[in-house]
Amino acid sequence: MMAEIGFFKLRYAQMKSMGKWDCKNSLETKGWVDWQEFMKVHFKGTRGSIPTAPTALETREKVVAALLAARGKDLRSEGQIREFVEKQLPFQHGATYGGNTPCVHVETDSDECLIFDGGSGLRPFGNEIKEQGLTNKTFHLFLSHLHYDHIQGIPFFFPAYQPGNKIIIHGGHDGVENALREQMKPPFFPISFDMFGAEISFKKHSPGDVVEVCGTRITLFEQDHPGTSYGYRIESGGTSIVYSTDAEHRNEALSHKYPYVDFIRGANLLIFDAPYTHSQSIGNREDWGHSSNVMGVELAARGEIETLALFHHDPSTSDEDMIKFLAHTKKFLERSKIMVKETRPGIPGSLAPRAHPYDVILAYDGLSLEF
Ligand SMILES: [Zn+2]
Ligand SMILES: [Zn+2]
Repeated sequence: MMAEIGFFKLRYAQMKSMGKWDCKNSLETKGWVDWQEFMKVHFKGTRGSIPTAPTALETREKVVAALLAARGKDLRSEGQIREFVEKQLPFQHGATYGGNTPCVHVETDSDECLIFDGGSGLRPFGNEIKEQGLTNKTFHLFLSHLHYDHIQGIPFFFPAYQPGNKIIIHGGHDGVENALREQMKPPFFPISFDMFGAEISFKKHSPGDVVEVCGTRITLFEQDHPGTSYGYRIESGGTSIVYSTDAEHRNEALSHKYPYVDFIRGANLLIFDAPYTHSQSIGNREDWGHSSNVMGVELAARGEIETLALFHHDPSTSDEDMIKFLAHTKKFLERSKIMVKETRPGIPGSLAPRAHPYDVILAYDGLSLEF
């Protein structure tokens, strides 16, 4: 909730400075738009490949760094301490990017729930539903693919065990049901898929299909990844979000006609698989099925994306490393903007003017964005 409120203030400031958008409440009061125009994106798991958790030593180092940063400050009341932690303490000392594997909840004003991927982040999301006492709910779970880090949360999803709930699992692959049953068989797991109390069904879609659920229109895009993955574009009213993880964009991504650019074009938010630096992506990690931060900025620029959220973080990356990774990405974005400013349209060989993502962020477990 805190992240959501914090972010809302940030968005408001961003949009105001762009002169593009007024704040949600005033829009609503003035009757310019209705609630359908808005979606909230809740990141429940943002780490790739395998869940990670800070060790005792890493946690202790955060405490030491926080106490050092607090020296000499007037922090007598809890309110003063909280304000210091939230507003002054660097993110890597007061928080963590988190370690659950991919799961993103897209909240709309529908009673039904829209979820992308069932990584370990699905477990805390299910626990929130339990704590809220919500029953007889329908969940639409869209899977990018069946690699373990994207389905391992499903056996731990509390609502799946509750009779009265409905879970509709969407995907582009064949054999989704079989794969999910297999991961819950001995010797891998003690509880059988048949122990789920909810009504579970499966829907297979193909690129070109338009799926209408939760007041949104969802389209698929086939991506380059071992075994293929699918990206999803979610649209509601004038807002669009692209969930695109586990996708390798190679040299042809820089060609004039790259269909992915049309798929993401104009989205308010692009959730982009970028565990690597540029040199890693063309070096020893080529063909691993993932992309770089630099490729994310390039494609987001060409696709005229408003906010680029880097996602599927490398499990070996510490919070300190992530801060450096974000700084490098922002530097690349700023340099790229300067280069574009210096273009001379019409002169052969010069760069073409183009749009740029307004901002680049690193998604973290617990981050909520509102559009
Ligand atoms: Zn993955
Ligand atoms: Zn994968």
